[in-house]
Amino acid sequence: MPGTILLGIDVETANESAATYARRGVEFLERRGIRATWYVTGRTLARYPALFLEADRSGAVDLQGHTYDHILLKSVLTEVPPGCTVCGRPDVFFKRGASPAEVDADLARCQQVFEDVLGRRARGLTCPWAYYRGLGDRPDLLEIVYAHGFRFLRSFGRDARDGQPVPMEWPPAFYVPQGFPDVLELMIHDYQDDYLFAEFTGAADASGYPAHLRGVADRVAAEGLVWSLCSHDHNCDTPDAFAAKTAWLGDLADYATSLGIRFLTASAYYAERTAGRTVASR
Ligand SMILES: [Zn+2]
Repeated sequence: MPGTILLGIDVETANESAATYARRGVEFLERRGIRATWYVTGRTLARYPALFLEADRSGAVDLQGHTYDHILLKSVLTEVPPGCTVCGRPDVFFKRGASPAEVDADLARCQQVFEDVLGRRARGLTCPWAYYRGLGDRPDLLEIVYAHGFRFLRSFGRDARDGQPVPMEWPPAFYVPQGFPDVLELMIHDYQDDYLFAEFTGAADASGYPAHLRGVADRVAAEGLVWSLCSHDHNCDTPDAFAAKTAWLGDLADYATSLGIRFLTASAYYAERTAGRTVASR
């Protein structure tokens, strides 16, 4: 089996970059015959409802949630690799997570926007910044996301030092030990985007990222792995800027397709993983 890519884009800027991504992104996918999941913040969806409704109906995009206000569900405490600077820090980086009450209120607001704009709730949630172990060590947060209807997550996107890359050997898995057998953690593998590849490798820029990604694709195809791949709508406020931001993604998509790797949306992958299962939901 030549492997699977779950392409997920965080569309979160709630400004012209998000609007341009919505306008150009569908054509980008259709030209390559692939599909993707866009994890959109409620604030972004509320600002550009018509654009995202059109993308949702295109068939190329699976629209899911990324909180309303891009709040962190857990704190991030990153041990910065020697010689690197991450988020402006050379040693340790800390960003505080929201409280469970704040998470509960934010997700309620996010799902209300999905109802208002798309007439449905989101089933998938990318947790901003993503964390080591995802929500695996926080059953209290799993209770909250479950109550709001989320059944597949990208919350596990950092290694044991709360950094990157996330090893490809860690596959998507259900939250069975925590008592949520129908909640699937999709992971975010490798680096979360081109700029984070540069930060965590200490490279001057991301010019080495396309070659790195081709190497990952070779491995995914050879070993039949599932690769949950992430990017963002950052700095996409013009068509030229969109083209520059997605150049590496286009290169990888063409290369992966040539290897026989399939692109699945998160919704399709969740359906595949739960088909025929007899595990009861909570
Ligand atoms: Zn984000």
